[in-house]
Order: sequence, then structure tokens, then C-alpha cells
Amino acid sequence: MPEQIADRPAAALADSVLGPLWLDTSDRPAPRPALAGDVEADLLVVGGGFTGLWTAVRAVERDPGTRVVLIEADRIAEHATGRNGGFCEASLTHGEANGRSRWPEEYDDLHRLGIRNLDEIEQTIKRHGIDCGFTRGGVLAVATRPHEVEALEPGSEGLLDTAAVRRLVDSPTYLAGRYEADGCAVVDPARLAWGLAAVAERLGVVIAENTRLESLRGRGAHVEARTPAGTVRATNVALATNVFPGPLRRPRWSVVPVYDYVLATEPLTRDQLAAIRWDPAMGISDCGNQFHYYRITPDGRILWGGYDAIYHYGRSIRPEHEDRSETFETLARHFAETFPQLDGIRFTHRWAGVIDTSTRFCAFFGTAHGGRTAYATGFTGLGVGASRFAGDVMLDLLAGEPTERTRLEMVRKKSLPFPPEPVNWIGIQLTRWSMARADRTGRRNLWLRALDRFGLGFDS
Ligand SMILES: Cc1cc2nc3c(=O)[nH]c(=O)nc-3n(C[C@H](O)[C@H](O)[C@H](O)COP(=O)(O)OP(=O)(O)OC[C@H]3O[C@@H](n4cnc5c(N)ncnc54)[C@H](O)[C@@H]3O)c2cc1C
Repeated sequence: MPEQIADRPAAALADSVLGPLWLDTSDRPAPRPALAGDVEADLLVVGGGFTGLWTAVRAVERDPGTRVVLIEADRIAEHATGRNGGFCEASLTHGEANGRSRWPEEYDDLHRLGIRNLDEIEQTIKRHGIDCGFTRGGVLAVATRPHEVEALEPGSEGLLDTAAVRRLVDSPTYLAGRYEADGCAVVDPARLAWGLAAVAERLGVVIAENTRLESLRGRGAHVEARTPAGTVRATNVALATNVFPGPLRRPRWSVVPVYDYVLATEPLTRDQLAAIRWDPAMGISDCGNQFHYYRITPDGRILWGGYDAIYHYGRSIRPEHEDRSETFETLARHFAETFPQLDGIRFTHRWAGVIDTSTRFCAFFGTAHGGRTAYATGFTGLGVGASRFAGDVMLDLLAGEPTERTRLEMVRKKSLPFPPEPVNWIGIQLTRWSMARADRTGRRNLWLRALDRFGLGFDS
């Protein structure tokens, strides 16, 4: 009997390179020059991920002629935006269950706004011809443990039993599934980000890479942003810096950096793809607290991520955290159990990215400097689509006129901050331990039930 890949995850990973698949291409644009000298702007956007890029694009779409400068400390799409699974979901609330439980009165509006946001992302991509593999093929949620079938609401219409779900995608681990056709696309996120940057420039936005914001100060009718090479004097500032520590205290305390890990296989042959019967347009995730997400890339690989969500003491963010062999081997083993038909397949890429986890699992918003600065962060691993909505919210807040978006309780209400160390670290470890146990037993312990009661938690 051939040695099973499940027994030798290290071997399957042996030739993999440490680095995001999406950024490993000669099509990656050369970095734009850093800011040199002092400039004036109507709007300064800080951060060159999806949140910053959408904010810049929406600012000039909404009000052509606005002078927008975007600064990025590293390179466009260097962090979460160039490292994610590429699930572009309509949900603005990290899923329906989270949204309904927190904002039951307005959830239907949030759902409608989320679908509209996804439609408009699709229209923007089409209008500007951004070549990023955007395919709206829906998402399949699968249960792999008996107690997870409950999460798929077996009583309601549309549940796929074992045979039905395995006809869609053939894994011996699947017990049941539910397919949502409407609310999700898959995309090559780096190409989308590069495309948005090019669109922004065509519409007049100035982008400076390798330009770090060092400090921000309100100065009467302006905000002054210092960078190593010069000062930007802006009427308004939109902070889109994810979990990286920034100049404002509130967002700094309300997010923690959580590392999420991903693998990508070599491209599948036609026979391998046929053996698992998977329509490449459809993304998949399983239903555990520690869940996997996986999809087929435009060049026919399986991207396989999730499960472990690692927090380092003191909100530490360091490149060393990205290479965690035990997590990569766990992911490789789970992959082999899910698709034994693909025995022998090798992983070509392994990487990690840092997620802005908030206690409410979705973005929160705020302003500073008398309404001249706005921020959005806290997407908790579901910001590819929601970042565009967040950009519009920031622009609404900066404009100072109430809109349907800024009237939402979800937008007005702040996210509860995380406690200082060591309480934070202890709380997160206890939560992770409890969630792993709940995945095994199907029962939430006292700690998880207490967190549920206060609407708190930990997710990726
Ligand atoms: C491994 C992984 C998988 C994920 N999978 C999914 C998924 O499948 N679907 C989904 O919806 N979401 C997913 N996410 C989350 C998603 O990638 C993000 O929510 C989304 O990209 C929005 O990112 P952002 O622009 O807010 O942050 P980022 O992409 O991190 O961009 C913020 C930028 O700000 C810059 N910056 C920070 N500080 C400064 C400063 N002082 N000066 C200048 N620039 C600064 C940073 O360099 C960075 O480039 C995933 C995330 C990770 C890490």
C-alpha cells in the first residue's frame, strides 16, 4: 500500500516556497516611487490594501476632481490583501449568524447592502476590464462532523445530504452541505488590488509606495500627516491600515493581530480535477469553529487555508511568525484526509498573513480630529468584499452628511476593545482551547457560553 500523504505532510511541503502564491508572479507591478517632499491633498488615504484602494477609487468616482494621495508603508497588496483566500463575499457582518445576532432589526438592510456592494464590485471589475479571475460561483459550506450538520439547519430547504454534497465535490469527509449560489465570488486578490491601483491612478489618484505614516495631527482646517520624506497636508484622512498600530488609540485597542496560514498545491491535472468533481468557480468552507476554506485558483491549484489562528503575546507582528511548520503540517494532513484521491500532490507555496480580529468579527468605524479623519478596521478575515463598503462608509463620515450607511447601528456602534496583556493573551488561549474542544465534542463550555452571552469572541 503506498505511503499516505496524511502520514508524511512534511514531504508534501518539502519543495514549497515561503511566500504568497498571488504575489509570486512576474506580473507584479514595480513599486511606485515613495513620496518626496511636502504635498497638499483633499483626501489622504493611508494603506494600500483593499480598504485603502477602494476608498481612493470611490472618492474620485463619487467626486471627480478630488485630489487624492494614497501612501503605503510597503507595497500595494503586500499584506492581507495579497495573501488571502480570495473569497469575495457579500456579507458585511462575517456571516449571517453573526450579523443577525448583533443587529437583528437591521440585518435585512445589511444583507441587501452587502449584495449591492458585491454587484458593484463586479461592475467595477467589468467596467475597467480588471483581469483578476473574478467568478461568482457561490460557496459550499460542508459539515465534516455529525454535530456540524446542525449548523447547516437540516430542517430547512436546500440541505445537501452526504450523497448530494459528494456529487458536487467528492470528499469522504463530507456528511452534509449547503450551497449558497448568490453571495460569493472567487478572485485573484493581488490582481484585483493591482487593477484597482491602476484604475485609481487613471482617475487621478497619486500613489506612493514605501511611504510610512509616522504621525498624524489635527491643525485647524487640515490634518498634517508626517512621513519620512515629507508632510501631507490634507483636508481629510482615511486610515486603512488594518491591524498595524496606527496613530489613533481606539482602533489600536479594538483589534488584535491573528495569523492565518495558507497552502497552495501544484496545478491539478485534468484527471485529478475529475477525481474530485469540483466546479472551480465554487469556494468551500467547513463548519467548525476552527474552519478550513479552500478554492481552486485560476491556474488550477487548490488553495487550502485556515484552521489554526495564532495570536502572539503582546499583539506581536513579525515576519518570523509567518513560517510555522506545525501549522503547515496540520493543514497538509487535513488536506490529505479531505482529498485522498490526490495522494502524492505537492504543495508549491506556504504563507501566512495577519488578520485584524475584532470582538464583533466585522469592521467598525470611527472618526477623529473633529471629523477630518476616519478609520475602518476589524474585518476579522472577511474583508475582501466588505472593504469596499467600508471605504464608502469612511467617505460618508468625512462628508459629514448622514447616509443610509452611516445611520446603521452597525456603523454607529463601536466595537468593544480587547483587554491589556496578560489578560488578553490568557483569554485568547482559553478561547482557542475551548473552541478546539467544542469542535471535537459538539458542546460549548462555560467560557464560550459566557462570551456568547456578552457578544464577544475570537475568530479568524
Ligand atoms: C491569510 C488570510 C486569508 C484571508 N482570506 C480572506 C478571504 O478569503 N476572504 C475575505 O473576505 N477576507 C480574507 N482575509 C481578510 C482580507 O484579506 C482583508 O480583510 C482585506 O484584504 C482588507 O484588507 P485591508 O486593506 O484592510 O488591510 P491590508 O491588506 O493589510 O492593508 C493595510 C495596509 O496598510 C499599510 N499600512 C499600515 N500601517 C501603515 C502606515 N503607518 N503607513 C502607511 N501604510 C501603512 C500596510 O502596509 C498594508 O499594506 C484574509 C486575510 C488573511 C491574512
